Amino acid sequence: MISIEEALSRILSYVDVLSAEKKPLVDALGQVLAEDVSSSFDIPPLDNTAMDGYAVRAADTTGASAEAPVQLRVIGEVAAGYTFDGGIVPGTAVRIMTGAPVPGGADAIVPFEETDEPFETAPSGARQLTADVKVLKAAQPGANIRRAGEDLRAGQVVVSKGTVLRPSEIGVIASVGTAAVNVFRRPVVAVLSTGDELLEPGQPRSGARIYDSNAHSVSALVHRYGGRPMMLGIARDTVEELAAKIHEGLAADLLITSAGVSRGDYDIVKDVLTREGEIDFWTVAMKPGKPLAFGCFQKDARRIPHIGLPGNPVSAMVAFEIFGRPAILKMMGKRDWRRPLVRAIAQERIVNRNDPRVFLARCIVTERDGKHYASLTGAQGSGILTSMMRANALTLIPAEIDVVEPGEEIEVIMLDWSRGEEWGSYLAEGQGSPISR
Ligand code: AMP
Ligand code: MG
Repeated sequence: MISIEEALSRILSYVDVLSAEKKPLVDALGQVLAEDVSSSFDIPPLDNTAMDGYAVRAADTTGASAEAPVQLRVIGEVAAGYTFDGGIVPGTAVRIMTGAPVPGGADAIVPFEETDEPFETAPSGARQLTADVKVLKAAQPGANIRRAGEDLRAGQVVVSKGTVLRPSEIGVIASVGTAAVNVFRRPVVAVLSTGDELLEPGQPRSGARIYDSNAHSVSALVHRYGGRPMMLGIARDTVEELAAKIHEGLAADLLITSAGVSRGDYDIVKDVLTREGEIDFWTVAMKPGKPLAFGCFQKDARRIPHIGLPGNPVSAMVAFEIFGRPAILKMMGKRDWRRPLVRAIAQERIVNRNDPRVFLARCIVTERDGKHYASLTGAQGSGILTSMMRANALTLIPAEIDVVEPGEEIEVIMLDWSRGEEWGSYLAEGQGSPISR
């Protein structure tokens, strides 16, 4: 039996970061930047105003108050996106809108609220300029001016290689004028179910046969973590069918199969896989998810890793979370695939006696007054898929702990932090992209 860490590090040693591809910026959400992006100019490019108001010489407003306003002659107006030709000389002001460059000679912006024009009375350009404006408060030099380059300097790397693109990075990259970026490819992940008993959902039900849930839950997980599932369907437990489906799967970057790795089916899968590539069967010290196959195929100078998940629906999902997810993240160029661990107070007794495996029980973690509480989702059989549906976390109870009493702290692996609203960021190609005109 090998540990979870040992199994994961063996798997990851066969997994490489994929090649880069150039993509339109918004389509790259959730992917990892494969190049540094820098700015060729200052941001903002010019000194500009943070407020609507009047550009003035601060010295002209010395001593101004509501009782003794300073009167300035308004010599023009400037809106964002335009420049004011001309300059401010003593005794003059320019009406100015947020984002507009500060006219020459001005060194402060007096907001409308501090003048006798308390509100912006009309959109820029639509209003007859008053001959003058009364300033009701002295301005400090530099007041309400955003300096050129205060956000970013010309030549500066603004988002570096290896960064995961979130909406804020995408906004920053757009702000330096870049429309497309090189990002590491999302892996295509072939998903194959094996077993004579399986039926495709949608087919009529018959006798002892069961519907294939693994292909669907696993493909959804692939999708969620940023891969592109390629569903190969079901291979019957025959050498021919299995070999044929595996060949199809070699077009992918990663092959994931389920079932056929426990004692009963072991031989057929082993036969086929050893003929086609290298394969190892492991007993991993985790519950659920103990039997796991891992192998590697070679095709056209490409190496295609293969993860053989256990067949039981809960085990398949849990083993995917533990081994499949990090593999996908690594292929996408992500450097951290650890999940946040949370310390939670057990709400009930959890027994893992006489089992030398880490217990990954499905649980529901809730938060009250800054503390986390964990309760199990009920029966923990590895065939009870609804236990996975109710869970938002897995317990991480070490093998050497036999019993956790209510009130004791345990560690949990959070699977969902929210109720799903963030998943859009993981959607693969074509699924979450904006609709173009
Ligand atoms: P096996 O690993 O082939 O021994 O399968 C273990 C258990 O998981 C058996 O009860 C199978 O019927 C079940 N199982 C295997 N594959 C799937 C699947 N794709 N969907 C649902 N259940 C499955
Ligand atoms: Mg089977």
